[in-house]
Amino acid sequence: MRVFSAVIIMSLLLVSGCLDSLKDQIVSCENITGDCKYEILQDNVYSKLHIEINYVTDNSPDSDAIDILKKRIKEVSDKTSITVSQSAFGSTDNSYSLEEIVNIEKNERERFKSGDTFVIHILYLNGEYQDNDKTLGLAYTGSSFVLFKEKIEDASFLLISPTDIEKSVIVHEFGHLLGLINNGYKSPHDHEDSQHPNHSNNEESVMYWAIESQDIGNQLDGEPPNEFDADDIDDLRLIKEGNL
Ligand SMILES: [Zn+2]
Repeated sequence: MRVFSAVIIMSLLLVSGCLDSLKDQIVSCENITGDCKYEILQDNVYSKLHIEINYVTDNSPDSDAIDILKKRIKEVSDKTSITVSQSAFGSTDNSYSLEEIVNIEKNERERFKSGDTFVIHILYLNGEYQDNDKTLGLAYTGSSFVLFKEKIEDASFLLISPTDIEKSVIVHEFGHLLGLINNGYKSPHDHEDSQHPNHSNNEESVMYWAIESQDIGNQLDGEPPNEFDADDIDDLRLIKEGNL
């Protein structure tokens, strides 16, 4: 699929006069999840980060979840400023395909990286992901991910609140934008789960696979983690320093 679309874009490039803007699209990190890790972690090109959130009415983000995401970004990146904007939109749907999700982002997203600011986009949807109804969250481009708010609420169990789960899922999907784990780089640490590619084999890491699944309650004892573990942190440090 990637090779095919690259061929189409290359042919467009040959016949187009807008060489520079097309070149930007081809080399943009935003086409592939994990490819914007340098732009998000480092401060040499983008010293600031903006988080744009669009949510389906009645499915707004929990402020504690946004706060923990900002805290984690501060801990792992060199960004000098992190800002957040939110707005609501209506939806009559309750089961979303990846194509629909991409189209919703196209319609709702207002901000993209420019000047000294990199922009991450988060969609909060009602209902479920059509391809896997256990999905709580999904990172699908280099700068955007989606959370399924009603599924997160359904996944709460015993003493574990929906807020605890939302805090974990939002940091987990952000971790995928950073390439965790082994997506586009090779970690010096043996911490990728062979059964669940790009996820941690440590259930105390926020990158543990069950964090983004409705199975979270069956797979974890107690409060789900919302922190990167020592191996995740070391990968991010090496990426930030340009050594991975
Ligand atoms: Zn994941």
